Amino acid sequence: MAKRDYYEILGLSKNASVDDIKKAYRNLAMKHHPDKGGDAEKFKELSEAYAVLSDQQKREAYNQFGHDAFSQQYSQEDIFRGADFEGFEELFKRAGFGGSPFEDLFGQFFGFGRSRGGRRKQYGADLITDIEISLEEAAKGVKKDLNINHTRACIHCKGSCAEPGSEKKTCDTCKGNGQVQHVRSSGMMRFVSVSTCNKCRGEGVIITQACKTCRGSGVQYQEETVKVDIPTGIENGMRLRLDGMGEAGHDGSGDLYVNVFVKKHSLFERNEDDLYLKIPISFAQAALGCDLEVPTLFGKARLHVPAATQSHTMFRLRGEGVPNLRSHSKGDQYVQVVVKVPDKLSTKQKELLKEFESESNKKKGFFDNLFC
Ligand SMILES: [Zn+2]
Ligand SMILES: [Zn+2]
Repeated sequence: MAKRDYYEILGLSKNASVDDIKKAYRNLAMKHHPDKGGDAEKFKELSEAYAVLSDQQKREAYNQFGHDAFSQQYSQEDIFRGADFEGFEELFKRAGFGGSPFEDLFGQFFGFGRSRGGRRKQYGADLITDIEISLEEAAKGVKKDLNINHTRACIHCKGSCAEPGSEKKTCDTCKGNGQVQHVRSSGMMRFVSVSTCNKCRGEGVIITQACKTCRGSGVQYQEETVKVDIPTGIENGMRLRLDGMGEAGHDGSGDLYVNVFVKKHSLFERNEDDLYLKIPISFAQAALGCDLEVPTLFGKARLHVPAATQSHTMFRLRGEGVPNLRSHSKGDQYVQVVVKVPDKLSTKQKELLKEFESESNKKKGFFDNLFC
C-alpha cells in the first residue's frame, strides 16, 4: 500500500503553520489513540506524519522529495527504527495525555525536540571597570556605589524590539523555525545542511514595526548605580564579578568585572595580611628603652621598646594586620624602630653629648668604637 501524504493524514495543506500542525496532531492523536479505542495503525501513521512535519528540517525535505526524502537521509538517524511502538505507548501513558508534556515527550522520543531550535544562545558582553579604595576600606570592607552606563532591555518595548501594539508575523522563509535547510544531491546521496534563517535571524518571527525608542535593537543605554560590596581583606588588583551587570543580551546579560585597586597608604605598607610601619625614635629612647603609642589601621597600640634596642629592630604587634579575605584571621603589624640623629642641637645638648662621648671612650677601646 502506498504511503499516505503526511499533510493529508493531518488534514492540512502544505502551507500549514507550525501551530496548525501541532493542533491538528493533538486533536487527531486524541481520536486515534489506542487507549481511547482508536486504531493503532492510524495512530502510528499519524505519529510518523507529525514527527516529520513538526521538524523544520524534515518538513522541508519532505516538501521537496516526498517520502523519498527519508529513504536515505534519515535511516542513520534511526527516527522510526528506534521508535518501538510498544515502548512509546508506555511512555505516552505515563506522561498523561495532551498538553505540553506530551509534545515534549514526543520530541524526546524521536530524538528531535525544541532543543534543535534555530538560534544559538546570545549573552550580552561583559564589562570591566576599575575602582579605587583606601587601605582602611580594604581592611574593613566597604560598600561602594558605582555608576555604570550599560545596555538594558528597552523600557518602551520591554526588549521585544517591536513597537508595542504592532504585529509580529511568523517568518515565511523558515516557517517560524529559525532554521533553513539546504539540500544538495549527488547521485544517490543527499547532503543536507542547516543554517540560521537570514530573514528573521533565527527568531522565527518578523517584526512589522520596529520599536521607535530602541530602533528595533531591544536594548538601550541606561545609567545605573550599582552597589559593589567589597569584602574585608581584599588585595590590590583583585577582581570582583557582578552577575548580570554587563551589557544586555537576548538570552541574558553579561557580567560586570570590577578591578579593585588599593591606594598607597601614607604610613603603612602591606604585604598580604601583614602591615609594616616605621617609627622614628631618639638615641636616648633606644638606649634607655621606652613605651610608645603607635598607630594601627584600627586605632592605636602600645609598644614596649626595651633598653639597648638597635636601630631598625622590628617588633611584632599580633593581630593588628589586615583580616584574611578567606579565613578572616587577622595578620600582624610589624613596627620597625629607626633611630634618628637630630639635625639641630642646642648648645646644652652639644655639651651633654660631648660629655657622654668622653665618658663612653673611657669605657671602650678604639676597636670597640669601630664595631659598635
Ligand atoms: Zn525598544
Ligand atoms: Zn526565518
